[in-house]
Amino acid sequence: KKQIRLARRPVGTPTMEDFAFTEAPIGTPGEGEVLIRNVYISVDPYLRGRMEDVKSYIPPFQLNDVIVSGVIGQVVASQSAQFKKGDIVIGTLGWETYSIAHEKTIRKLDPDLAPITTHLGIIGMTGLTAYFGLLDIGKPKAGETVVVSGAAGAVGSTVGQIAKIKGARAVGIAGSEEKCRYLTETLGFDAAINYKTENVRKALKEACPDGVDVYFDNVGGEISDAVFPLLNDFARIPVCGAISAYNKTEPDVGPRVQQYLIKTSSLMQGFTVGHYSSRFKEAGAQLAAWLNEGKLKYEETITEGFDSIIDAFLDLFKGKNIGKQLVKISEF
Ligand code: NDP
Repeated sequence: KKQIRLARRPVGTPTMEDFAFTEAPIGTPGEGEVLIRNVYISVDPYLRGRMEDVKSYIPPFQLNDVIVSGVIGQVVASQSAQFKKGDIVIGTLGWETYSIAHEKTIRKLDPDLAPITTHLGIIGMTGLTAYFGLLDIGKPKAGETVVVSGAAGAVGSTVGQIAKIKGARAVGIAGSEEKCRYLTETLGFDAAINYKTENVRKALKEACPDGVDVYFDNVGGEISDAVFPLLNDFARIPVCGAISAYNKTEPDVGPRVQQYLIKTSSLMQGFTVGHYSSRFKEAGAQLAAWLNEGKLKYEETITEGFDSIIDAFLDLFKGKNIGKQLVKISEF
């Protein structure tokens, strides 16, 4: 089987040379294990953090480790009473063409609940991230203004739509005209700002005449600096990600935020979706219901072929994706 390993720790923006393509025997499953042919691989910005040798909420990859992320595949051989050949399963598996997994580490997918790929996106990890960050920390009320950065990505596009479901105004910040059009014309955002071509401070002021009640932050950096002066009293800021800083070799410095939090009695709270795992079932069911009722829409950027996995990962940092970035490496 083919595998992708971490060859060295990236310095700054990762490159192809940081990864190694290797081959290994497919192997046979032991007691309680299944052999899975991997079909869809999720590539995610947070994996960049796991490539650094630092303590975090999830242990770092070791050099030479096979990279792992969310994967959907099909059981081709089973030594588990819980799974049979042909089952479609999801788990945290390797960037490899086949994986052997213990029955306790994977879950069967119901292909009738929603399209299969959505289990890695809008009803999966990224949808859950949007759901908990926005509803548990952001707590948007009808008529309030929700600003989301990284708005056309997997998490951001879901945040804006849930804000709309809750009756709030949704304003997105994203990196291209096409993305901004997608947000307003397809997803129903009230306004979208292209941070690459517009003066974000000025555009935000125009798009948020009543100020900002919730700022769902996916990117950090200068984009967030532009949002803070517009916070209303008792604003909530779920800090989901800081992708603008992930490839920086020096700590990111900018205007201090304390003054804005103090002046407005605002709450800024970081979170990790994994801390909500006891509620995944309930939230996943709600997301699937909204999806099936047509209240949530989603986009996916799917590249084809095992050899495109690293490019697909690197493209996240170039903003090439709209919605969830996946790689399809075989067929069901
Ligand atoms: P996305 O689908 O949003 O893909 C990443 C997007 O980030 C790109 O499309 C790009 O869009 C934007 N981007 C890349 N570089 C920069 C930059 N320097 N400045 C501003 N925007 C940039 O990925 P996800 O939806 O999977 O993740 C979004 C964020 O949420 C990430 O920060 C991720 O780490 C975080 N996250 C956090 C979780 C948690 O539990 N806290 C769980 C999952 C994700 P554009 O064209 O607009 O630049």
